[in-house]
Amino acid sequence: MFHFGESIQEVLQREGLSRRDFLKFCGLMAGALTLPKSAADQIARALESPRRLPVVWLELQDCAGCSEAFLRSTSPTAAELVLDVLSVDYHETIMAASGFQAEKSKDDALAAGGYILVVEGSISVSGSGEYCCIAGKSSKAILEEAAENAVAIIAVGNCATFGGIPAANPNPTGAVGVWDIIKNKPVINIAGCPMNPANLTATVVHYLTFGALPEMDQFNRPLFAFGRRIHDNCERRGHFDAGEFVMEWGDEGHRAGWCLYKMGCKGPASYHNCPSIRYNDGTSWPIAAGHPCIGCSEPGFWNWEVYKPVYLNEITPPITFPTVENPERQISPAAIAISGTAIGAITGAAGAFAYNSITRRSKGIGPDVDESEPEEHFTEQH
Ligand code: SF4
Repeated sequence: MFHFGESIQEVLQREGLSRRDFLKFCGLMAGALTLPKSAADQIARALESPRRLPVVWLELQDCAGCSEAFLRSTSPTAAELVLDVLSVDYHETIMAASGFQAEKSKDDALAAGGYILVVEGSISVSGSGEYCCIAGKSSKAILEEAAENAVAIIAVGNCATFGGIPAANPNPTGAVGVWDIIKNKPVINIAGCPMNPANLTATVVHYLTFGALPEMDQFNRPLFAFGRRIHDNCERRGHFDAGEFVMEWGDEGHRAGWCLYKMGCKGPASYHNCPSIRYNDGTSWPIAAGHPCIGCSEPGFWNWEVYKPVYLNEITPPITFPTVENPERQISPAAIAISGTAIGAITGAAGAFAYNSITRRSKGIGPDVDESEPEEHFTEQH
């Protein structure tokens, strides 16, 4: 932890981290934020600033899983130290104060203004707000009061972003996310159940460096973390493309690490950087552990049917690949050789056709490529 008046160099020295480690971290952050390598210097300068940004962290309707993720670094790392650059003035779960003292801390921080507001948990809007009250105030009133003087608002986890478990049908408390309530200032949504602390770190680094929140998608999620589908980065994608699917738990395919699509994997409909940054200091993530993605970074995922395959918006693999309905294991080597030749010819022709079509389309001539949906498909999620 930072001691009063310490510079980041002094903290690095005390924690056994070299300046090289720090600069390497700044380079990694630039990469995580999809910035050019040259941005690393700018990030280093911003983090070396003695100014400590205050943080007020609210916990509303949640399980504290995001706080757990935030606190789960195994040993002091550069990332952890960056989070220490923040001055967490109020966090109900980890602060030493309680009762009136805790409320006074919050009131003082809110009155001083200029803080980042981190919100974990959903907000109850049913009835008069009696489903979630702290110190006699409803969750909605607490949020509105805390948002007033915040310089930026970061909603963490699926509950604070999209309502999460409390908002699952029949949503008895009328749970909603922060951005459903706060409309007069930008709210960034670090989705996930729990959120990945690496994404919170990168968002904070971006704010400290550029004084603004990073670019967001239509759900206010930072593009650097939620700009790509899990399916497109998944380590089991080769098995999907080869038509090799787990058909039941513990079968040969499951033991061999095949694709979990038919077990209800929501990877083709989910946007998150789990495959690249993973959880628990980069140790693992659900699909690596043999469980399908449950789509925890998407709105309303708790209402999805867990074991039902998702609708495939894009026809991947292409038609020339084995279909998901006919496992290739039943085809003889001779048949594979013959079909391989045929596929080669078809692929060549298809490639030429696609090139011609795209070229012709870009020139405004010829028909569009047929992008109609397949006859057989699965339940569309959203
Ligand atoms: S369906 Fe799931 S397990 Fe299969 S490749 Fe896509 S994300 Fe990975």
